[in-house]
Amino acid sequence: MKKQASFIFSPDQLNYEFSETHPFNQKRIILTMDLLKEIGAIQPDEIVVPRTATDEELLLAHDAKYIEIVKKASKGEVNENIGSIYGIGTEDTPFFPDMHEASAFLVGGTLSAIEEVMEGRSRYALNLGGGLHHGFQGKASGFCIYNDSSVAIKYLQKKYGARVLYVDTDAHHGDGVQWTFYDDPSVCTFSIHETGRYLFPGTGNVTERGNGKGYGTSFNFPIDAFTEDESFLHIYHTALREVAAYFKPDVILTQNGADAHYFDPLTHLYSTLKIYEEIPKVAKEIAEEYCDGRWIAIGGGGYDIWRVVPRAWSHLWLTMKSIPTPTGPLPDGWLKKWQPEAPVSLIETWEDPPNLYEPVPRKSDINEKNEQMLTRALYTIRKN
Ligand SMILES: [Zn+2]
Repeated sequence: MKKQASFIFSPDQLNYEFSETHPFNQKRIILTMDLLKEIGAIQPDEIVVPRTATDEELLLAHDAKYIEIVKKASKGEVNENIGSIYGIGTEDTPFFPDMHEASAFLVGGTLSAIEEVMEGRSRYALNLGGGLHHGFQGKASGFCIYNDSSVAIKYLQKKYGARVLYVDTDAHHGDGVQWTFYDDPSVCTFSIHETGRYLFPGTGNVTERGNGKGYGTSFNFPIDAFTEDESFLHIYHTALREVAAYFKPDVILTQNGADAHYFDPLTHLYSTLKIYEEIPKVAKEIAEEYCDGRWIAIGGGGYDIWRVVPRAWSHLWLTMKSIPTPTGPLPDGWLKKWQPEAPVSLIETWEDPPNLYEPVPRKSDINEKNEQMLTRALYTIRKN
């Protein structure tokens, strides 16, 4: 019988760890799963243990030379000078033992998610271990070694002949995926993110629309720093509906970085948990309307792993399972279990408390600028 949703997970996904103090911390996955288990939302037979990606699969989106260097770095055989040419051994993306194996395993997780859906075992699939959207063909960047989305999209094209819509709601631009498919009209990349004026990686302008035959299938929605829920959601809803209607995908892959929240230490957006309730609902609607349901969701950024990510990512799974959005207190068992370990006071309800932050004085200017950006970003669609 076809499952409603598959939850791709193995404790080995936590082997992707640069150091104990690095902001990218896969413990988020455990915290999220545990929250879902506490409310009885996840059953043992829904958990699928992922496979690893083969070298042949990594080569779909990465250079042989780069893979060779990562493998050597895995065994401690690359010095910092050579590493820096390939973006590894840097402050953002340091060396760690067995980094090749750990990175290939995260890619395998996204491939396993794709297979669950494309081979009809499950309507939807979630791999919170994936979403490493900054990985380039021949270079690591921004905590990302191999780019699971780029490999997975190539795999979807090659094995299933699918037209793919990639939707990236991480607060940083989905640059690695965009550049991989910049010339390809059969893949549409969509990224809503904090403007690159002051934030890594600096790209993701509305004018990055694709190249050659791929012109018009790359969409960027750079929103201003201090953007709040209402404006974020208006841009996201409007843009995704118009882009999906224009591109008509066979399958949707969503990258669900949870770093646009007010609490996130690396970005400057003022979102609350509200956007993380809404984002998956729209993705699912679009998948049902255009793709016969085929929707694969992956993780991404998210650096307040205690107060934000577990609640935010739970909504992905709850939406896939069609479980009504929970409200009110978080389960006591979860709070009691994790509060002693958390360096901050946990939020004790599904929703954020009201008045999370002081009113933003430039609110109307910011919303107005975002609206003007939206008009420019959708120009190639609306002119027809
Ligand atoms: Zn991010």
